[in-house]
Amino acid sequence: MYIGGQFEKPAGGEYFPSLNPADGSLVARVAKGSPADVDKAVSAATKSQSEWAAMKPLDRGRILKRVAEAINASATALAQSETDEMGMPPTMATMSISGAADFFEYYGGLATSTLGDTIPSNSDKFCYSILEPYGVVGVITPWNGPLNQAARSVAPALAVGNSVVLKPSEFASLSSVEFARLAHEAGLPAGVLNVVTGFGEEVGQPLTAHPGVRKVAFTGSVATGRAVGRTAAEKVMPVTLELGGKSPNIVFDDANLDAALPMVLFGFVANSGQICASGTRVLIQRSIYDQFSTRVAAAAEQFPIGIDKEFPTLGPMANRMQYDKVLDYLAIAREEGATVLAGGGSPDDADLNVGLYIRPTVLADVTPDMRVVREEIFGPVGVLIPFDTEQEAIQIANDTPFGLAAGVWTGSLSRAHRVASKLEAGTVYVNTYHDPATEAPAGGYKQSGIGRERGIAALREYLQLKTVSIKLI
Ligand code: NAP
Repeated sequence: MYIGGQFEKPAGGEYFPSLNPADGSLVARVAKGSPADVDKAVSAATKSQSEWAAMKPLDRGRILKRVAEAINASATALAQSETDEMGMPPTMATMSISGAADFFEYYGGLATSTLGDTIPSNSDKFCYSILEPYGVVGVITPWNGPLNQAARSVAPALAVGNSVVLKPSEFASLSSVEFARLAHEAGLPAGVLNVVTGFGEEVGQPLTAHPGVRKVAFTGSVATGRAVGRTAAEKVMPVTLELGGKSPNIVFDDANLDAALPMVLFGFVANSGQICASGTRVLIQRSIYDQFSTRVAAAAEQFPIGIDKEFPTLGPMANRMQYDKVLDYLAIAREEGATVLAGGGSPDDADLNVGLYIRPTVLADVTPDMRVVREEIFGPVGVLIPFDTEQEAIQIANDTPFGLAAGVWTGSLSRAHRVASKLEAGTVYVNTYHDPATEAPAGGYKQSGIGRERGIAALREYLQLKTVSIKLI
């Protein structure tokens, strides 16, 4: 763990193994944190926060930009540790780490931008507002894009003067701990960023409940997000919740189908489908359904598998639990009567069988009530759904408790705007997919979450507003 500017052993003296999903080998023994470690980290964060917040914003920003440089300088090693721990293929892991550095560069530049307002009021009064940091922010992250997701929350939180205690997933801890060391060496004062590794119940829950933590940014599943939200409600503490999805990717018959095909497939197989915004429900206009579904299935069968292949390629599922969960869903799909057009299980290749690989899978003949249509599988599985009209496509797309992202493929500018305005999703991509920008806010409608990460909008998530009212006597 990294607390108060140095590596720390866990208070309980216990460690747990982190296994490589590509071959089952031991990657590391990770410190098993406990409430005592959380307490120590919150205390270090509290001690450092007021001085960090008092620093000239321009200087805070300069430090964050140096953190960005440090991440980039160590990108290969950081990416390798993520490949080893959770199976993201190296090229994609390197892109993901470079995205983490971008967050520090971007929010470093925005550190000076937290402007308040002057507020017209009575003539004998001068009224203004200022934006202030919360204090100590808890950041809890999942395993599917470890450092990128951490940086997405940590960078804006630090930029505006908060200090942070970060709890990475038990399945991907190493890049976050190494990142804390790099950030400290790049000039971040000791205690401003602390990392406590371990399990949700023993670290995540106590961190959320800790009286010294004033805001939590959580990324993960809906079930855990609810638990975090309940704990936060008891404390009356603000939370950002970035949760799951079952995103629609709609292909109209006027689209450039050659451009759509690879991105529709990538939409649900990228990172082995372990992306919150995966476009797992592919809606295809009936006039092109037969030909396009055949092409999607053929492309899925040909998608390269194995972490040693050139990008784009499919790595293993990140851990045994996720692998078993996806196989369970494939069994459910068959029981429910879906047709498997491609994939449907693990590869036959003996080289790959030592790892937790699942072939890109395409399901057809599904109905709206099927579990594989309604629930987040978080694996390389797409369901194909035909539709006739624009209105029907919008109705099917919105028929979900989630609302994280959506895709629209069309040659009509008017249709693109019309459909984008009707989709219940925090992000709508048109003629592209999995194309997030550091500068563009992202987050969920409905059960996909509360609040926004990325962009200027995210800065406000880490600030509270104070009004000062002065009587001119
Ligand atoms: P998860 O099981 O909800 O875990 C997320 C984090 O919460 C982990 O660090 C976990 O600890 C911790 N945790 C577990 N119980 C907790 C508790 N009671 N209180 C506080 N923290 C607790 O999610 P996951 O399986 O790691 O990640 C997959 C999910 O994340 C998917 O649903 C995916 O859609 C979602 N996701 C969303 C976004 C987004 O931006 N919207 C991005 C990526 C992923 P452990 O380490 O012990 O598990």
